[in-house]
Order: sequence, then C-alpha cells, then structure tokens
Amino acid sequence: MDLVETKEAFRKALQSARDGGGSVGLVPTMGALHAGHLALVEAARSGCDCVAVTIFVNPTQFGDAADLAGYPRDLDTDLERCRDADVDVVFVPSVAEMYPAGPTETTVEPGALAQVLEGTSRPGHFVGVATIVTKLLGLAGSCRAYFGEKDFQQLAIVRRLVADLDLGVDVVGCPTVREPDGLAMASRNSRLSPPEREAAATLWRALRTGRDLIAGGERNPAPVEHAMAGVLRAEPMVDMDYAVVADPVSLRPVLDIESEVRLLVAAQVGPIRLIDNVAASLSPVAPATVGPASVGPMSVGPMSIGPMSIGPMSIGPMSIGPSPAVEEPDR
Ligand code: AMP
Repeated sequence: MDLVETKEAFRKALQSARDGGGSVGLVPTMGALHAGHLALVEAARSGCDCVAVTIFVNPTQFGDAADLAGYPRDLDTDLERCRDADVDVVFVPSVAEMYPAGPTETTVEPGALAQVLEGTSRPGHFVGVATIVTKLLGLAGSCRAYFGEKDFQQLAIVRRLVADLDLGVDVVGCPTVREPDGLAMASRNSRLSPPEREAAATLWRALRTGRDLIAGGERNPAPVEHAMAGVLRAEPMVDMDYAVVADPVSLRPVLDIESEVRLLVAAQVGPIRLIDNVAASLSPVAPATVGPASVGPMSVGPMSIGPMSIGPMSIGPMSIGPSPAVEEPDR
C-alpha cells in the first residue's frame, strides 16, 4: 500500500495505475474509518483495479470550530484498516497541502440542491464539500468515485456537480451500513455517551415508521412527516431539526406520494448532529436489502462557480455502478 501526502504524488500514483491499463476507484473520506467506509472500499475493490482512499478532515465544510476540533481522528487504525481491505493508495494530505494559501479563492457553489435540508441548517457546508470534492476529483483524474447514501444530499450534489462540470468521473452510490439497532454508522457516533447512543437509534425508528406508512398506502406526505416527527419528539434526548418526505432527485417537498420518495431526518443528539434517510414507495420494499438510489432524468436550476454563473440546464440519466446490498436491521 502506497501512503502519499502530496498532491503531486497522489496524482502520479493514480496516473501510473491508468498508464498500466488499470481502472481507478476513489473513496473520499474524513477518516475514523468504520464499516460504512469499508463497504465503499469493498465496492471499489470489486469494480476497479486500483483502489485509492483519501483521508482529509476538510476544515472549509465545518461551520462550527468545536465540531472541527472534536472530529474523531485515528490515522494509525485507519491505515491498518486500509491495508486489511487491500487498498492500493491512501492519500493523507495536510491542510496546508490542500489549501496552501488558505481557503481557495474559487469555490464551487452547488445551487438548488444545496439550498434545502442540510443546506439550510448548515450554511456554507455544501460549498466546502463541493469545493473539496472537485479538488480531489481533479487530482484523481478519470475514475469511479464511491459515495455513501448515508449522506444522501451530498451524494445528489456530487452527482450533479460531476455532470454539470464534465468531470469525467463515474459516481457510484452505496447503501447505508447500519448498526444492529439501525443507527447509521458515522465517525461522530463515537462521541455519544451510552444513553445518547441508545437514543440515537430513534432516527432509524422514525424512518421505518414513515416508510411503513407509505408502504401501507399513505399517499399524503403530511401525516408521514407528522408520524416521523412524533417518533423523534417522543425521545427527550433527541432534538429534531427536520423529518421530511422529499423527491429523491430534486430533494424538494412532494405534494403526493406517487413514485419512490426519500425520507430524510436530522436531529441533534448530545454533542453531535445526526442525519439519516431511506427510500420509500407505495409498493412495499423488499425488507432485506437497500439498493442504490435510482437517479433518473432531471432538470434543476442554475449552478454558479466562483465568479462565473451557468444558467439553467437539464441533463439526462446519470450512470451509477453496482453497489452491494446490505442487511437491514429488523428492530
Ligand atoms: P465521511 O468520512 O463521513 O466524510 O464519509 C466518507 C464517505 O463514506 C461518504 O461518501 C459517506 O457518505 C460514506 N459513509 C459514511 N458513513 C456511511 C455509512 N454508514 N454507510 C455507507 N456509507 C457511509
């Protein structure tokens, strides 16, 4: 396994894999690797010749200095996990390496998809995400890039920016990996106290409640949102931010539930903000598996990049690769 710390070495390592005729799979992370990250690595391993993991806690996507300072970091364990998972290249740049002159003058503004949900609650977050992802994809070059459905809005934004900016990367969405009680795995979960950790599983219970209502024939989003909010509010340690039924492509509210929708929830639990989501449709979903998000043709508003601005555009279906199925907890 190659451990590289400079942009130049990273670029060269992936270019030499391509020069040798190999395909490249990229898994961008912020480290403190868990089974959710490793599922992305596994998907990359099974689909690509050279697998690269990036580990970089990107300061520009944190609105809160305490959250950045408290973000879990454990590079030695991460490297061990990467070695065990047969990763070829690990890129661990410093902040100075990624931002030698401080935050970049040019930023990527992801437009309408970033103006709802997490975009409302975390102003500036998605500009930071879109900018660092664009930088990492630019360094990686032609590749498949693996992202988790756990961060569903982020995945939608990344798909959109890759298509809009012609980055020549295949974005692969992978299903959420959960703890046995349904809590979506996340690096920050390690910061929860035992009672907070127990309360955190309420998010999954709320999503299941919403999904079951829709599977049972509920076509009106309002009672579904009300029921999800009820589950969240019943747990005193959970401070709900939102519980919504959204269109899976635009992430906008839906008026009627006719085809597949996405249920998304967010809440503060103890020191951390938790987000989670699940697909829901009128025909009951197979309980044992969660597949990749289906992304059909779509049309969205303008996206502006730094000083330039590109007008409205519509694009065709995007390509998504295979992703592993994961067991869903029953509880
Ligand atoms: P992070 O290190 O939290 O920035 O996450 C890096 C990548 O791993 C992102 O694409 C996340 O969506 C994905 N990821 C994080 N947690 C999970 C999970 N529980 N299941 C699947 N993917 C995940």
